[in-house]
Amino acid sequence: SAAPVVPIASGAPSWAAHRVSRGEVSVHGVTKHYGLLRVLDDVSLTVPAGAVTVILGPSGSGKSTLLRSINHLERVDRGFIAVDGELIGYRQQGDTLYELAETEVLHRRVDVGMVFQNFNLFPHLTVLENLVEAPIAVRGLKREEAEAQARELLARVGLADKAASYPRQLSGGQQQRVAIARALALKPKVLLFDEPTSALDPELVGEVLDVIKELARSGTTLVIVTHEIGFAREVADTVVFMESGRILESGSPEQVFSAPRHPRTAAFLDKVL
Ligand code: ADP
Ligand code: MG
Repeated sequence: SAAPVVPIASGAPSWAAHRVSRGEVSVHGVTKHYGLLRVLDDVSLTVPAGAVTVILGPSGSGKSTLLRSINHLERVDRGFIAVDGELIGYRQQGDTLYELAETEVLHRRVDVGMVFQNFNLFPHLTVLENLVEAPIAVRGLKREEAEAQARELLARVGLADKAASYPRQLSGGQQQRVAIARALALKPKVLLFDEPTSALDPELVGEVLDVIKELARSGTTLVIVTHEIGFAREVADTVVFMESGRILESGSPEQVFSAPRHPRTAAFLDKVL
């Protein structure tokens, strides 16, 4: 039903769709404006399947917008993003791209999990109900299956005994661990974290980072925006530094933290370390 659209990338997107492999997140030449403000400026990034990428950068540099674009929440002006070989926002048929209808976007979004700074749990639902709702509605699981899976995930994040609690009865760290379990319940191909520990009291940060470390070890593809440098050093395969909508540099944690190539990266690290 949706109208065919002209290619969004320079060059043929059919070429784009063919050169991304399964499980991989591929961001290619992405530019986005809010009005006259260029928020993403020719951003390219590849996250191989099973790899962990940490994105650093000052406030306003476009980190959240990039994550939201990967999660189909924003439309980019130029360039393309693909997850596991499927273009975000478009369906490809032969050489023609069709814009996805809203229902198709919802369906595709299941492949990309997102964990936010403020947990975003449903306050009126128990922890268990927070975890079973979407798998039943979106993945079509039977209630017993969804509940069994939810209990398994709660055990994985150390909250087996909280199934009947409401979010307000949990600490921030526990709520964030529930949010991670909820994201995992949809079996996403990639999980995005937008400053997952920024809203937490310092003593609760560790328990959430431990859960993310376990995911990293288990081979889940992760893209994490965080200012936790020690954590990034430990889990990241690649560290990316953004400023003013651009990626100024990327490399191994060792390289970026110990010998940043760009003076802006060095100046930023001086402030957060
Ligand atoms: P970061 O996550 O790195 O702090 P954001 O991606 O949130 O950066 O924001 C990048 C820039 O885009 C900022 O200047 C911000 O004010 C602006 N911005 C973000 N969302 C919107 C929006 N919905 N409308 C207008 N400007 C926005
Ligand atoms: Mg942000």
